[in-house]
Amino acid sequence: MGPDAGFVWGCFGLTCHAGNPFTAKLPHPITAARVPTMPYQLPFITTLFITCVAISAPDIRAAQIETQQLSDIVKVLASDEFHGRAPGGPGEEKTVAYLIDRFQALGLAPGGENGSWTQAVPLVRTQVQDPASMGFGIGDDHQALEQVSDIAIGTIRPQEQITIDKAPVVFVGFGASAPERQWDDFGDMDLTGKVAIFLVNDPDFAAGPDEAVAGRFGNRRMTYYGRWTYKFEEAGRRGALAALVIHEDKAAGYGWSVASSGPGENYSIVRAEGAAEPVTLQGWLHGDAAERLFATAGLDLNEQRALARSPDFTAFELKGVTFSADLAVTVERIESRNVLAILPGTAHPDETLMVSSHWDAYGHGEPDAQGRTMRPGANDDALGTAGVLELARLFKAGAPLERSVVFAAWTAEESGLLGSAAYAADPIYPLEKTVANFTLDILQTAGPARDVILVGEGQSDLQGDLERAAALQGRVVTPENLPENGLFFRADHFSLARGGVPVLLIMGIAGGSDLVEGGRAAGDAWIAEYIGTCYHQTCDAWDPNWDLRGAAMDVELFHTIIRDLGNSRRWPQWKPGSEFKAIRAESDAARVNDHSSN
Ligand SMILES: [Zn+2]
Repeated sequence: MGPDAGFVWGCFGLTCHAGNPFTAKLPHPITAARVPTMPYQLPFITTLFITCVAISAPDIRAAQIETQQLSDIVKVLASDEFHGRAPGGPGEEKTVAYLIDRFQALGLAPGGENGSWTQAVPLVRTQVQDPASMGFGIGDDHQALEQVSDIAIGTIRPQEQITIDKAPVVFVGFGASAPERQWDDFGDMDLTGKVAIFLVNDPDFAAGPDEAVAGRFGNRRMTYYGRWTYKFEEAGRRGALAALVIHEDKAAGYGWSVASSGPGENYSIVRAEGAAEPVTLQGWLHGDAAERLFATAGLDLNEQRALARSPDFTAFELKGVTFSADLAVTVERIESRNVLAILPGTAHPDETLMVSSHWDAYGHGEPDAQGRTMRPGANDDALGTAGVLELARLFKAGAPLERSVVFAAWTAEESGLLGSAAYAADPIYPLEKTVANFTLDILQTAGPARDVILVGEGQSDLQGDLERAAALQGRVVTPENLPENGLFFRADHFSLARGGVPVLLIMGIAGGSDLVEGGRAAGDAWIAEYIGTCYHQTCDAWDPNWDLRGAAMDVELFHTIIRDLGNSRRWPQWKPGSEFKAIRAESDAARVNDHSSN
């Protein structure tokens, strides 16, 4: 069966941007007071100026991302022949061939496995079959759970039958095990063979300012402990059979309809032999179903939510409550590929800077009002991929750098950051010598802006690099406007961050830009329009009317930063308090540091 046939194109548990939180009404905390005082220069004027003086400085002259190039590349990748670029389908063949052709034409070297341009990414697609029989048992009472209305559950284990018979149920609160924050929700609780029930987000999300937990988990900024992916992983590490997260609109960042869309379908990478097994079942529990469950166990869910915010909270079994499930699962293997190219460094080729995007999009799905079925992913993320190709062109045209630059186009981002996760699990260029990852995922198409939006404020030194590069353009850095939604954990850069690599993400939907024409209001309106009508839909198509001058300037920021780091011995660091600092520290000895980190 071709992988396009029978795909259920949903967001549940899958996409990096599942259920995007933005609406037209969200206020932006940054005001017009942040507008830079330097006069704004249109990029084409810069081009002309530099063309005149660049005879002795070809590298500087090369530093121009061409808006026409960006547009032309997107026009190809988002065209009908590319079938919406679903992993494993005919769109993959075209896309991979196109990217290799472009990298080759630019004069880059193959950067993939065994001297090739690609890295194999074997994927597993699982689909829980209807009807799925599940429920909680409390004494003689049985609370059946309906897939979609009460629960949205799936599996990432490649097994065709899942049976759980009366497993004990444990409430683990937020389920955070965070020694660096002096927080542990598990205590002595052994989860082996049990079902863990989690609250969504992290412990201080809903806390009042006078509560002991306030500020312990970044206040409203979501930490990784707040993501459902962390909760499923932690449950797996502790041997749980299943992990269920109680859904709440605000704390999740999206409604139940998003959490329960595409029910029972999951994608995952094929785990290496001997790798830790994930939980057998994972998913969301509807808030009403959770309330019923707690009530029959003699508990009030709201009260338990408040108690779970206390540093004294410890996981406990719901007395007399069990969970059972009997499910059939279809399991399908998909062979997909990442595409990689490299420009080897002249002095330190083993130290790499990585630029990446994701080549995949949503393929074909249900017809829209005009009967269109293809979701071309023009902005998300053909445009980011065009940015990667443009950076490859600039770096090839410029003076060679001392460090290597790797260009990666990941597969299966929309299925759960899988191509980048597969790479991070089996990196071609060792992560400890990867200086930083720079990810482009969605660029704004509304024209020049006075600022660039930073995702993940306070995470790493790269924030300083971004500020300096932006200042060279007469622009400033503005933090994302909804850090509680954890965008920092929802694109491919995160796969590298988890491996300790410092990362920088430009994502055009992370907050409205302060546009030269129309200001912040126009930037917010652009996002609302894109998210509301096109994001992950048929209408995310190439548009000849896009104004890509702002996008080009954003991509040029990466060019400036990479050029600087590429000729230095500097290793950007995670800031104290970052979830990823300790991971990076494990490989500190592998890096020669010039101690001039900013
Ligand atoms: Zn994307």
